[in-house]
Amino acid sequence: MDRCGWCGKKLPQGQRFCSDDCRERCERTLAWDQRCIKWFLLLLAVGVLALFAGALCAQNALVGGGMLLIGSDILLFPLVTPQTTALLGMRTARRAGRALGAVTMAAGVWIGWF
Ligand SMILES: [Zn+2]
Repeated sequence: MDRCGWCGKKLPQGQRFCSDDCRERCERTLAWDQRCIKWFLLLLAVGVLALFAGALCAQNALVGGGMLLIGSDILLFPLVTPQTTALLGMRTARRAGRALGAVTMAAGVWIGWF
């Protein structure tokens, strides 16, 4: 059983998308990801650096800031793994990615300022 690459609907064997609409959305999203991946990696690197620096110096605000940055990065560019996409369909996988980003941001605020 195959699944639609965008919405995750079950499809007959060999089919990749349930409609032209789903195929177009998926292609547009992939093109956007290709353009954004360097910004995603840059923000991620800065966030991780802040996180480590904050942990080393025991600066909670810096740790929180790093997590906030990483969370907003994931929220902006939910580049989910091909495995997740294959399992859930890209639409659901990106929603899950966004939820994960929001949780990371909330945890960052919590650690940094409470
Ligand atoms: Zn579909």
